Amino acid sequence: MNEKTTCDILIRNTSILDENFQIRRSIFIAIQNGTILSITSEEPSCLTATETIDGKDLLWMPGLIDGHMHTGQQLLKGAVLDELPMIWTRIMLPFESTLTPEKMRLSASLAALEMIKNGTTGFVDAGSYFMEEAARVYLASGLRGALSHSSMDQGNFPDSIRQTTEEVLASEDRLFDEFHGKGNLKVFYSLRALMNCSPALIRATAGRATERNTFFQAHMNEYAGEVNYTLEKFQLRPVEYLDSLGVLNADFLSAHSIMVSAHERSLLAENQVKVVHCPFSNCGKGVPDTPSLLEQGICTGLGTDGTAHGGLSLWNEMKIFRSVMNSFWGVKNADPAVMPAKTILKMATENGAHLLGEEKSGVLKEGFKADLISINWRQPHLLATNNPVNTLLECVCGNDVSDSIVNGKLLMRNRQVLTLDEEKILWQAEKYFTSGEVSE
Ligand SMILES: [Zn+2]
Repeated sequence: MNEKTTCDILIRNTSILDENFQIRRSIFIAIQNGTILSITSEEPSCLTATETIDGKDLLWMPGLIDGHMHTGQQLLKGAVLDELPMIWTRIMLPFESTLTPEKMRLSASLAALEMIKNGTTGFVDAGSYFMEEAARVYLASGLRGALSHSSMDQGNFPDSIRQTTEEVLASEDRLFDEFHGKGNLKVFYSLRALMNCSPALIRATAGRATERNTFFQAHMNEYAGEVNYTLEKFQLRPVEYLDSLGVLNADFLSAHSIMVSAHERSLLAENQVKVVHCPFSNCGKGVPDTPSLLEQGICTGLGTDGTAHGGLSLWNEMKIFRSVMNSFWGVKNADPAVMPAKTILKMATENGAHLLGEEKSGVLKEGFKADLISINWRQPHLLATNNPVNTLLECVCGNDVSDSIVNGKLLMRNRQVLTLDEEKILWQAEKYFTSGEVSE
């Protein structure tokens, strides 16, 4: 007689988006110890589950990964649309220089809520201040994430955020020592922007990341002003400049990467650098040559650039990305499939897992990490479609996400967030926006 074994979660009679981006129906998913134990078309007979989910009307897929966001700018929602340049030096940094531990706790709470409710299960924060406070909130949220300390040793900034090279490195080390590997969190090293980092800081940051077996990241090739800066100062484009310092490698995340030359693309490919585009934010700056990046085998993912750039919904980013790619690259080459739905979904899931340095993740497959979300498919804007994968990209929005599981743990069930106090966080946010103070 078969002995019953137990699993943590059993999802019964559901649909999934499989590793080949095909929809499979009447599927049973068993989750145990943070991983996907089995995906079967028949109910596993010798399995009892601690929690059973009726999967009828749901489509399960890998959770979305936000490859570039800013927790420290969460309270800037709505503050930058239509603003003249440079919003980074005129609005973002002055605001970040006024952050406090309380504001960071509220920022991380709101960001975590927004991500969970939009189906994001993992994220890479680009770096800010009081990140220890954010880390504690993210730990409690159950999200998978990589955090960084904002790293700049050059530039005329307010005293509260001005740091020497040694101070920057010490701040990054402290964050790493306390939180790397804790719960679902990692700590990455970061270079905020090349214009604000000395060569010594760039070398030391990359060196620290290698020594500690983690990733490092920078805003790259985002503005003409930044490209012109390295051209003027070093007669090299930004990626060429990093190559001259010997710091390009597979552990480097090159955020944005809009104005990238053919030579820089080959350097990214040779050194296996990973790229993250932020479509809504990037629209104001340029259109990346993603078809060529992907053709050259460069791992490319998607990010939101933080909630100040149109919110933390990767569903929005995917739709905007598809529209921009088609209008810019597709139309001029009469190629309607220049960026197909499957490619974009892969960028936001499987490639996203690579951006986080996760192995066996980003795909619904036995033995892979149980980071998955469900879409409530029984709705007029989704039901009855000729191609559910296309509909996933074209029509699904954050509000359609019903459940979220990270590392085998339910973070949201039927749109109720289980790990955070949503009512309290919304109350705090309202209070903040009326009084400018954080009430706890
Ligand atoms: Zn950014």
